[in-house]
Amino acid sequence: ATGLMWFRRDLRAFDNAALYHALRACRQLHCVFILDTDILDALPRADRRVEFILAALDELDAALRRLAPQAGLIWRLGSARQQIPELAHALHAQAVFANHDDEPPAMARDAQVRGALAGMGAALLTSKDQAIFERGEVMTQAGTPYSVFTPYKAAWLKKVDAFYLSSYPVARHAEALAPRPEGERRPVPSLADIGFEPTNLAELKIPLGASGGQQLFEEFFDRMDQYHLARDYPAVKGPSYLGVHLRFGTVSIRQLASSAQQLTVQGMQGPAVWLSELIWRDFYMQILAHFPHAAESAFKPEYDAIKWERGKHAEALFAAWCEGRTGYPLVDAAMAQINQSGYMHNRLRMVAASFLTKHLGLDWRWGEAYFAEKLNDFDLSANNGGWQWAASTGCDAQPYFRIFNPVTQSERFDAEGKFIRRYLPQLENLPPPLVHAPWRASAIELAAAGVELGRDYPRPVVDHAEARERTLARYAVVKKPL
Ligand code: FAD
Repeated sequence: ATGLMWFRRDLRAFDNAALYHALRACRQLHCVFILDTDILDALPRADRRVEFILAALDELDAALRRLAPQAGLIWRLGSARQQIPELAHALHAQAVFANHDDEPPAMARDAQVRGALAGMGAALLTSKDQAIFERGEVMTQAGTPYSVFTPYKAAWLKKVDAFYLSSYPVARHAEALAPRPEGERRPVPSLADIGFEPTNLAELKIPLGASGGQQLFEEFFDRMDQYHLARDYPAVKGPSYLGVHLRFGTVSIRQLASSAQQLTVQGMQGPAVWLSELIWRDFYMQILAHFPHAAESAFKPEYDAIKWERGKHAEALFAAWCEGRTGYPLVDAAMAQINQSGYMHNRLRMVAASFLTKHLGLDWRWGEAYFAEKLNDFDLSANNGGWQWAASTGCDAQPYFRIFNPVTQSERFDAEGKFIRRYLPQLENLPPPLVHAPWRASAIELAAAGVELGRDYPRPVVDHAEARERTLARYAVVKKPL
């Protein structure tokens, strides 16, 4: 049989479930990536993720040609809904193979493609690849989905074994890779070819492609034993920085989880905590699969009654947050980090999201959309889960009366102000504790540091104590009677 492997967010030619199944099922397998205009048209013309994808495609194409010299990646610029059925028809493919993507827009796209293929007598065959457990694989005894993390994690750990963590030996079946048809043997396009402009991705020195994912993981492997100690401090190289690679599948979740699990069973704490983060990823993916309403509205419907700030003042506060002008240095440094690099440290994502919802009283969806546009590792399920957690509207969220104090967070997690100074050089000479709250400095202290509030750095846009009171009042609509 002839088949078509449709790569989406699984940009690697090793340990790839759909690719493995396709190679086993077909005599002739073609490989395609669609630069999907249904997605690309909505993006700004300079987008780091588009650049990341093109670099990953270059490596994927080379990897396919290493597996079978005449093979390689076919690509199209257009709507996947049309392009996939057309290409399957042109290549006489009886089946198209792809890996699951449970984001609601991807599900809708796949349903349409499946329908079009069925009309031609062809099938869309999909596999689990981007999670260890997905959809209904880890359920409660009653057969319902978990909506609390701790018992989900316990059930996940109980179920996992070598079967779920082992790699798919793609190379063993590479002889089924078909030569690229004439006319399809063109190199992966450049940014300009698809109407995009360069970003600062190269300056950021993020290791790209599957080789970059491998390199980052090797580096992280050597410090994984310290993860639980280092992960909360944004000035420290604590986390793995693999988010973007997990997002686009330039690393295999099975390889990562299996390394972490092996070290965990040896009793190491760092890997155990990191494995837990990978389990959070599965957790939020299955939440979105079971409760797609959460993509649009509060997971807990009673929280939709909350009245968020609206109007000109709210919009001005939102702009201050986006541009890192809130007057709270840790929040502003965090926003500078995401704006300049497309990355934000996890601790800061929590602080910035909490600040938007609980200090500024703004709708969590505004912040969610901003992160979705900026984050290199943007993932609908994790981003939505993180925002709803911070806004207390989510499944296993922080209680609404827990309101992060951005100054205390700063003192605890960036005690010396190292991270703040990296992103807010105008505060360079302001020593701790003042760097965490410049408005507390005296005129003399400010002058000594060369900072004039309102000129070099803004005064706080809200007062913490007042914001706290307003938030408690705002959330009173969801308070359950005692
Ligand atoms: P590491 O600490 O090395 O973690 C390894 C991997 O585990 C991550 O790459 C990620 O895939 C997964 N992971 C870690 N924490 C979580 C979590 N809380 N939920 C789900 N998966 C997790 N993560 C995203 O991947 N995409 C997002 O769009 C996203 N948006 C977020 C928004 C908010 C408001 C919050 C609070 C968190 C968000 N996260 C998101 C989760 C987390 O902040 C990032 O996964 C992490 O900071 C990525 O950096 P890393 O790869 O160095 O992480």
